[in-house]
Amino acid sequence: MFIHDSEEGLLERVLNGEVKLHELDRITGDSNTATAIRRRALEKTLGVNLSPLQDSLDYNEIVGRNCENTIGSVKVPVGIAGPLEVRGEYAKGLYYVPIATTEGALVASINRGCAAASSSGGVYVRILDDKITRAPVFKVPTIDKALEFVKWIEENFSEIKKVFESTTKYGKLRNVVPFIVGRTVFLRFEAPSGDAMGMNMIVKAVDEVVKYIRSNLNYVSLVSISGNLCTDKKPTGVNWVMGRGKTVTAEAFIKREVVERVLKTTPEAIEEVCLRKLYIGSSRAAALGGFNAHVSNIIAGIFLATGQDLGQVVESSQSITYCETLEDSRLYISTTIPALEVGTVGGGTELPTQKTNLSILKAQGSGEKPGDNAKKLAEIIAATTLAGELSLLAALAAHHLTEAHMRLGRKQKV
Ligand code: NAP
Repeated sequence: MFIHDSEEGLLERVLNGEVKLHELDRITGDSNTATAIRRRALEKTLGVNLSPLQDSLDYNEIVGRNCENTIGSVKVPVGIAGPLEVRGEYAKGLYYVPIATTEGALVASINRGCAAASSSGGVYVRILDDKITRAPVFKVPTIDKALEFVKWIEENFSEIKKVFESTTKYGKLRNVVPFIVGRTVFLRFEAPSGDAMGMNMIVKAVDEVVKYIRSNLNYVSLVSISGNLCTDKKPTGVNWVMGRGKTVTAEAFIKREVVERVLKTTPEAIEEVCLRKLYIGSSRAAALGGFNAHVSNIIAGIFLATGQDLGQVVESSQSITYCETLEDSRLYISTTIPALEVGTVGGGTELPTQKTNLSILKAQGSGEKPGDNAKKLAEIIAATTLAGELSLLAALAAHHLTEAHMRLGRKQKV
């Protein structure tokens, strides 16, 4: 298996400090063995039973792609919500949506929203924009040089696009948006990234563009390949206004009879919760993209189930939910998500259970046309989010929230 040592011998060498935990993959040449030895070494060092972390994953597929210094995995229950009728451009028909969560009542609540929306004609979804972004930060000598630099970028856009696209078959540079702050310059590169979420793709491409810039403009120096105007994994106004990943909007028209029978309340009561909680409450709280009831619950649950980058739950959850009682007394509800970052290839989407969950959504791997599957996933997520918003707003309007959480989240041990 490995050249100089047995598993027991290696374990001894880890315990006496001769071998570091992270060196085991290289020494054994097998990350499954390395994972098992790390677990045993930690069990002895910490005196904790780590066998619940053991699983059947192939760590040779994971190390070097998804995680380092592996010791096993965490199991999170997956519930299914649906069927949900989605009326998108890419997602059309009935979908069962896998949601990974430990929050009792969440899946049941989303499921109720799916039933209400589906029996009222389904959820209409449209993608308004599609681009991943990366914004390196540069330093130049003066503000005049900053303006000269930005002008040069504009004048040389077609060459920059060629350099960018030489690194990827799927990333297509669409725009470079400059921000000048004194002698600091940010360039926000915007590019659709096919079915990939696109962060590795765009970093590789922008890195190449930076080399091209540096070879032409010697007064420009790169401070950091990311300057936080991208913005990755932070709640910001730039994503809220300009979008990132998929900008998606979803709407549904819920019949009054369905609101009363399925959601146990009225359109007017939901509208009032929406107004006083989502707008007045969130405004008073100075929320940044928090004009919603619990979008992060649905985003996190689907992200975890389908192998998305969990750090991006932050900006992908910034959203606004709107409710209105129509003249014909139906409830109109919409949820708009400006920065939904998702992929169906790459990253965690390649892991076996995550892949399976994407298959449930008929959105695993590359789309027939590159990008179609990621857009389908974005539409399904937005539609499910609307269903989750509808159900929670209704529970709040009917004053049922505490009762549901006590019933579904506080099961007594038998
Ligand atoms: P990736 O797995 O690094 O790249 C996607 C790969 O799939 C590329 O090689 C691409 O080809 C290929 N591909 C095949 N079919 C495709 C299709 N239909 N559409 C698009 N690409 C296709 O994934 P990524 O989305 O670029 O990056 C995601 C990873 O980045 C995640 O693991 C995430 O955690 C991590 N991440 C990185 C950073 C960072 O700063 N680097 C920040 C946040 C997250 P090409 O080679 O031709 O493009």
